[in-house]
Amino acid sequence: MALRTLASLGNVSGKRVIVRCDLNVPLKDGVITDDGRIRASLPTLNALLDQGARVIVLSHLGRPDGAPDSKYSLAPAATRMSELLGKAVGFATDTVGASALAGIRALDDGQILVLENVRFNAAETSKDANEREKFAQVLADEADLYVSDGFGVVHRKQASVYELAQLLPSAAGLLIETELQVLDRLTETPERPYTVVLGGSKVSDKLGVISHLLPRVDTILIGGGMLFTFLAAQGFKVGSSLLEVDQLDTCRGYLADAQARGVEIILPTDVVVAEKFAADASHVITSIDGIEDTAFGSSGLGLDIGPATAAAFATKISNSKTVFWNGPAGVFEFPAFAHGTRAIAEALTRVDGLSVVGGGDSAAAVRILGFSDDQFGHISTGGGASLEFLEGKKLPGLEVLGW
Ligand code: ADP
Ligand code: MG
Repeated sequence: MALRTLASLGNVSGKRVIVRCDLNVPLKDGVITDDGRIRASLPTLNALLDQGARVIVLSHLGRPDGAPDSKYSLAPAATRMSELLGKAVGFATDTVGASALAGIRALDDGQILVLENVRFNAAETSKDANEREKFAQVLADEADLYVSDGFGVVHRKQASVYELAQLLPSAAGLLIETELQVLDRLTETPERPYTVVLGGSKVSDKLGVISHLLPRVDTILIGGGMLFTFLAAQGFKVGSSLLEVDQLDTCRGYLADAQARGVEIILPTDVVVAEKFAADASHVITSIDGIEDTAFGSSGLGLDIGPATAAAFATKISNSKTVFWNGPAGVFEFPAFAHGTRAIAEALTRVDGLSVVGGGDSAAAVRILGFSDDQFGHISTGGGASLEFLEGKKLPGLEVLGW
């Protein structure tokens, strides 16, 4: 079966269309630091609004505990969306309560309303399918059609992604279509050399992708928090750096498998070790066999790849024809530990071929470090979703769209 696209919904004029977006933008003191995900949702919203649909936007933001939490309100995202669309965007202060229902019923053709964070409702992420369906049904009763465009959540079996898509005539939006086209290019016939760069902090989440990539790629570069589990797996002391002790054997297995297949897994040769996890922490550059020999001893923690590693990674990357990057090389939020991430981003901009950045924090990192979207082949809005896609997993939020 093929993915159902917007065209499959027919004429949407006057129809109430729920659009599940991913407006999970990074916020600092209530201010959006990267509006990339809002921008990425505009093509679908504009397409529907231009046809005179009544658009109801549904999204999550962060991980509230199934109850309202003003820290995770979508109000700033609705305001930014209004600026970007150049038109009024209504905002309901709940998802399925009085405010939402009144707002939806007051919508006119070509108008748009954002509902409050769907994760303020425990049923959204409930493990109980009946509970999720009951919740989704409340929204389904207020709408005619459903469009799934939150690529970042299609790997989740959640009410607004999975159940709702089955309660209304549903289709994928333009963002999901674009994302899948690019990811298909990474899995079907990637041009070689093909290099994958991994980093970030969700170590065990990301290790799984390595086994699936090994048969397909030429080189895997390891940075970010996960590098320390690899170093420890090879017997190096890593101080107080991020470490997943239960993954040491898995890492050893990947290294052996890679060697057997002739795939390079390249680990750092130097790292930046800090006294503590802070923007102004004192820090030194050290080779990987000296992490505990610095002035910070065993309490030192590795927060970035070192300059020699950054240069070596950059050369590998810019000489590749296909590059997929997920996960910052270091704690880029602190300028002192952003050098590795910047070097990798810079190298990606020099790729003569397809360069793809995936992951919420990686995408935010390149924008915060001053790069623009058009310097890359594609910036994916989905971190976990794109990794699971590359792992060859079935994504529930896509399966319900006929994919
Ligand atoms: P993405 O959202 O791109 O998939 P992750 O969520 O896995 O990436 O990881 C992003 C986070 O990883 C960033 O907040 C960054 O500070 C953190 N990080 C990177 N390197 C390290 C490190 N060495 N130690 C601790 N955290 C790190
Ligand atoms: Mg992240």
